[in-house]
Amino acid sequence: MLYQRIKQTLFSSVPRLCALCGLPLASGEYDWCGTCLSYFQPTPRCTRCGLQMPFSTPQCGRCLKSPPLWNHLYCLGDYAYPLTQMIHQIKYGRQFWHIDSLAALLAKSIPSPAPLLLPVPMHWQRYLHRGFNQSTLLTHSLSRHLGVACQTRLLQRIRSTPPQEGLHKTERENNLMQAFTLRSLPPVRHVAIVDDVVTTGSTVSQLCQLLLEVGVEYIDIYCLCRTPEYHNQ
Ligand SMILES: [Zn+2]
Ligand SMILES: [Zn+2]
Repeated sequence: MLYQRIKQTLFSSVPRLCALCGLPLASGEYDWCGTCLSYFQPTPRCTRCGLQMPFSTPQCGRCLKSPPLWNHLYCLGDYAYPLTQMIHQIKYGRQFWHIDSLAALLAKSIPSPAPLLLPVPMHWQRYLHRGFNQSTLLTHSLSRHLGVACQTRLLQRIRSTPPQEGLHKTERENNLMQAFTLRSLPPVRHVAIVDDVVTTGSTVSQLCQLLLEVGVEYIDIYCLCRTPEYHNQ
């Protein structure tokens, strides 16, 4: 409520510019101009793994052969411009206001949200160093836009692991062995795990495993970016 009021006050007192191209926004445009908004047009994907396909499909061949532990992945797009730039600005430029704009856009693509959102946790040492967990911030925004609950401390990272960037899929899986635990049991059977970027899916798979072991039956993944296949080799 307070956030919305501050946002409205700011919008009415300063010229509003597109977050991407910097041109003035027309009335009725928020965060991005009409041209830049077209970057976020949905593209055909496999609903299950979230990877881009020539046509939309509930499950691609790879998912049929080796189904992911989650049921449905929602994303805004590939790990490519402009999402790469915006995530960089959030992580390294602390431009947190992008999170809410992106969360609002992502929320529109989720027709039947899970009743409980859980962010991918960050180890406390990394949290101390960075000062925030972008997945937790994204979870709070999504929770507000979707009108569902979130528990930001239910999943816990108990082992500090080297960054996943640059590692192959098997290396990522080994890197994450016993890195997570549950602080408490989820109160519902349908949850969504929230992360900013899903690359090979190793991190969310580890968390799915934990949740399935304690009786969760249906898991969605909500993320800003899904890394295209050629990055996963
Ligand atoms: Zn623009
Ligand atoms: Zn698939």
